[in-house]
Amino acid sequence: MAEGKLVLEIVTPERRLVSAEVDEVTAPGLWGEFGALPEHTPYLCQLEVGVLSYRVGSGRYFVSVIGGYAEVGPDKVTILAETAERAEDIDAERAVAARERARERMSGQALDEAFDFDRAELALKRAISRLQVASQSGVS
Ligand code: ATP
Repeated sequence: MAEGKLVLEIVTPERRLVSAEVDEVTAPGLWGEFGALPEHTPYLCQLEVGVLSYRVGSGRYFVSVIGGYAEVGPDKVTILAETAERAEDIDAERAVAARERARERMSGQALDEAFDFDRAELALKRAISRLQVASQSGVS
């Protein structure tokens, strides 16, 4: 591996989404966004629903990640996500429909006692994360 680089692996139960030599990674940790550069102190943390980005030279790439864990080492970042998508994997129309569905549910919640607010809020977060990533590539 080239000096000053990090290996980034993003793996889901279904596939290895990213395996690349990168310069920098920024990820949505449960306690806030964190950055990892080469020679980073080893670190393990849970991931939030959100946008992970990584830089290779002057190019920045975005991935929507939904839950899971990040293991950061001095020369490697491993992301084990429940679900992860790059911009080109995302169906923006589907994400817009999911966002609107979640918003509608949340706005009508008072009418239904059985309504699960946390579930709708999580669906909304997933849709927003996907739309953010899709828009980075001009997809939506
Ligand atoms: P939806 O309500 O549209 O199914 P969701 O947030 O409930 O969205 P998830 O349960 O997070 O969907 O994901 C289920 C599977 O569908 C995963 O494999 C995920 O990658 C895929 N997926 C979900 N939304 C999209 C999308 N907008 N574009 C591409 N793949 C998606």
